[in-house]
Amino acid sequence: MSLMGQMMQQPLLISSLLQHAARHFPNVEIVSKRVEGDVHRSTWAAVARRSRQLAQALARLGCAPGDRIATLAWNGYRHLEIYYGSSGSGLVCHTINPRLFPEQIAWIANDAQDAVLCFDLNFLPLVEKLAPQLTSVRHFVLMVGRSHMPASTSLPNLLCFDELVDAEDGAYSWPQLDENTASSICYTSGTTGNPKGAVYSHRSTLLHAYASALPDAMNCSARDTILPVVPMFHVNAWGLPYSCALVGAKLVLPGPHLDGKSLYELFESEGVTFSAGVPTVWLGLITYVKSQGLKFSSFKRTVIGGSACPPAMMTTLQQDFGVEVIHAWGMTELSPLGTLSKLGTQQLKLPPDEQRKLLEKQGHVIYGIDMTIIDDDGHALPWDGQSAGNLVVRGGWVIDRYYGMPASPLVSVDGEPGWFPTGDVATIDAHGFMQITDRSKDVIKSGGEWISSIDLENIAMAHPAVHEAAVIAAKHPKWDERPLLVVVKKPDAAVTREELLAFYEGRIAKWQIPDDVVFVAELPHTATGKIQKLKLRDQLKDHVLAQSPA
Ligand code: ADP
Repeated sequence: MSLMGQMMQQPLLISSLLQHAARHFPNVEIVSKRVEGDVHRSTWAAVARRSRQLAQALARLGCAPGDRIATLAWNGYRHLEIYYGSSGSGLVCHTINPRLFPEQIAWIANDAQDAVLCFDLNFLPLVEKLAPQLTSVRHFVLMVGRSHMPASTSLPNLLCFDELVDAEDGAYSWPQLDENTASSICYTSGTTGNPKGAVYSHRSTLLHAYASALPDAMNCSARDTILPVVPMFHVNAWGLPYSCALVGAKLVLPGPHLDGKSLYELFESEGVTFSAGVPTVWLGLITYVKSQGLKFSSFKRTVIGGSACPPAMMTTLQQDFGVEVIHAWGMTELSPLGTLSKLGTQQLKLPPDEQRKLLEKQGHVIYGIDMTIIDDDGHALPWDGQSAGNLVVRGGWVIDRYYGMPASPLVSVDGEPGWFPTGDVATIDAHGFMQITDRSKDVIKSGGEWISSIDLENIAMAHPAVHEAAVIAAKHPKWDERPLLVVVKKPDAAVTREELLAFYEGRIAKWQIPDDVVFVAELPHTATGKIQKLKLRDQLKDHVLAQSPA
């Protein structure tokens, strides 16, 4: 007879994170720059109380377990209260990316069957316009206090968030849910097709929170003041609203104020030690800080991911500002963290140049995620840092299907089923460090060989005159596709096509050097701040390559 463990059964529930933070870190602050323009100060204890009041209010509105509570909102304390108040009480928090096209927002809200829509003040005109198309929404809630409620609106029975919360007494006990209950939904941004929903559970969210707080992951602690620049509608701000509660960190939420100046001022006034965001937001912050000749006084490290972090950006942050950059890879389907680049004892023995090369990669998996690379026939490829293949993953916070889609997306590796195909092409080296070469749809296929657009972009970004760069495949009569470099110059910088192409010499194999350069005023970005390569390819589809390599 096997012996069973004799430990308490405690389901892994999102409400337990909040209870923990409120009980053991009650006075640790949650600071929010509000849409209304001012700075609001709260604490974990106050957020916990208001989340319970919100849970009561949602029940009073008739919300039943499983109902979807949607948000169109920036990073702020009311959004945090919706995260906890909805998931904690058995409802499902559905964060919608407000930067999507209005028709996509309506499509997503209808697909998810959202029952309640909570939104920030600046989205009132958008919601008024969308409302007739939102077939399942029963209640519209404006995330403001009474004094900011509009005098008139076309929305039927528009509710006031603070009024709903204040009307309740907070005498509410979080239900003991099954830990596999759905807690939140997030849709992929649809960069490569229709948006698809990933439905997270309490269990997956807690496992992700534990793992992402580890020292070799985000290294979150009670000594940190954490400012997620990554929006709470972009894969739950990479889980930080949960991991901050888990460790008792102070949380600083920037609202819609994401320009370099506003962010810098908030970093300094609140003593931010750690942040996280996509490369494009750092471009804005670095440009501002450099142009003003400023320094950071408390900011020590940041996670950069969502798209490849150019090595030049890492160098600037590290050498000019003393900020450690942790390059990370993940995706909506992974809640989102998969890998982070941190060196272990073995890698720290390597020469500095090799260490730097490892840190530029997307990194090592965290426990809880397994990964490998496979060829098109499903066979595992060697971890030699050279063989590029389709990256597949599995783990406790990886989806096993998309919302509302019965067909399993999973694939087999050498006959073993149960792996999620990421759609990314990557190498893995002998240290277990993974490097994304491309999204499979962005790979440039030149004469049967693959060229990594990310490698070419990283080189361009190291040129002092380049603000932003993208490399896409341009049609070529002989080679099928050849790389085309598209560049946004820094203001007042002068550089020619020839100088940029010459910059590649000695930095990459000659046959991989782009054929041509196009200068543009700006690059198209997706709703999550990534370069929209599909659109760029479309914009430049008639571009004739200026030269054809032999
Ligand atoms: P979407 O798929 O809609 O763009 P996600 O935020 O889920 O939204 O994007 C995940 C994808 O972003 C990954 O599959 C990968 O292609 C890309 N990505 C994420 N992090 C990195 C990184 N550090 N380097 C390169 N690509 C990355």
